[in-house]
Amino acid sequence: MLAARFYEPYAGLEIEEIALPATNRNDVLVRVESCSICHTDLQFIDRGMATIGQPPIILGHEIAGSIETPDRNGYWQEGERVIIPATISCQKCLPCINNQESQCTDIQFIGNSIDGGFAQFIRVPADHPIRLPERLSYEDGSIVSNLFIGAYHVVFDRAVIHIKDIMVIFGAGGFGLSILQMAKLRGAKVFIIDIFDWKLEIARALGADWTLNSNKVPHCETAVLEILEQKADVIIETIGAPRTMVQAINLLRKGGQLVLGGYTDNQLPFLAGQLIRNEFSLIGTMSAPRKKAPEVLRLVENGRLKTAPLITHRFSIEDINQGLNTLRMGQSIRTVIYPWLDSFEKNSSSSKL
Ligand SMILES: [Zn+2]
Ligand SMILES: [Zn+2]
Repeated sequence: MLAARFYEPYAGLEIEEIALPATNRNDVLVRVESCSICHTDLQFIDRGMATIGQPPIILGHEIAGSIETPDRNGYWQEGERVIIPATISCQKCLPCINNQESQCTDIQFIGNSIDGGFAQFIRVPADHPIRLPERLSYEDGSIVSNLFIGAYHVVFDRAVIHIKDIMVIFGAGGFGLSILQMAKLRGAKVFIIDIFDWKLEIARALGADWTLNSNKVPHCETAVLEILEQKADVIIETIGAPRTMVQAINLLRKGGQLVLGGYTDNQLPFLAGQLIRNEFSLIGTMSAPRKKAPEVLRLVENGRLKTAPLITHRFSIEDINQGLNTLRMGQSIRTVIYPWLDSFEKNSSSSKL
């Protein structure tokens, strides 16, 4: 099969012909129809953050596809359309049993600890994929598989959010715009900050109450407080940069919640005293709990969550390095990789972009 493999940071992915992954009776082999690129993929390539699994490794964790080789227990049939949630939990440890699968002690991250979706096929345990409803496209599935489920997890599981709470989101990328949509479902008032006007325009179309281009003001926090006239109840930081983490904590009201969701190996850049004095809650989040998938898929089917505004580019797997560039240069929200050229062509001819 064709795969784009990561060998080392500061280099492009290698497009290679490699052997199909071997499956046992409890696995399925999934034909990857679409896999979108996330900023976390760039953290490995551009920032030298180590993958959990040993390179060479196939990155990519926003995967939709169809069952190529069903498991031998007969749960799946060939050709069934599925999404693959980005984290695999063991179902056996205490957190898993207590319905906290995102805190699994043996969690596996697709495209980080095990091979991911920038390839024509992927092997996963048969009990992991979720059926993709007929009305939804593979691209919808890719966006749901990690971004939407992860954002849903932030707004409905990790943070405590009440109607009319003021939420500030740092970053109008894929995760920020997904959290925005969930927060509007929850009834929060959302202020979103980015450095690109075109992304903020999408945020407004998706219901953001306020937006700010932080590059166009002398001091971000001052500009936000002038507009809001109060500090925020909840702040979601999706970038993982020290500067935005400091801005975030400066904008939080006493007793407020700071959620860090931009995966990074940076150290926290603020004083412990600031957190203690203000009784802030510091919340981490990084998972796409599988159990939430059907609920999120229903919200997309009902049109209450929108994937289309997030998809800006499409590339074949041969051109994946060009695809990575669109994200790297800030030109893209989500760039979708098509490991099979024919489906890529079909899709781009019907594309509204
Ligand atoms: Zn991701
Ligand atoms: Zn577990």
